[in-house]
Amino acid sequence: MIDLSKIKLMNSQKLPLTRKQKQIIQEYCYLAALKTLSEEQSEQMSKILEIAIGDEVIDFLIGEADHFIGHKFNIIDETVCKNHQANLKERIVLEKPEADKITS
Ligand SMILES: [Zn+2]
Repeated sequence: MIDLSKIKLMNSQKLPLTRKQKQIIQEYCYLAALKTLSEEQSEQMSKILEIAIGDEVIDFLIGEADHFIGHKFNIIDETVCKNHQANLKERIVLEKPEADKITS
């Protein structure tokens, strides 16, 4: 599970990203929004997902990008989405009491 206290996303509007991380996220967003991927693009996508395994900031932002893209293409049911968020909030509070300060 991602450690929100480390990222402090909710507290500060800006997420500190290195130039490299920003490039990777931009690349991911570009690729994720395409209808089909060429072989080269698929390989690039795999590389990014591999990087995400070892970089929780990128991993988190990829999840957010997927969510955003899902809304953009209308493939997310907002009710499911809200339930998921409520569920997630409960879990975060249960597992990390100090997350209360971040989410409220
Ligand atoms: Zn949503």
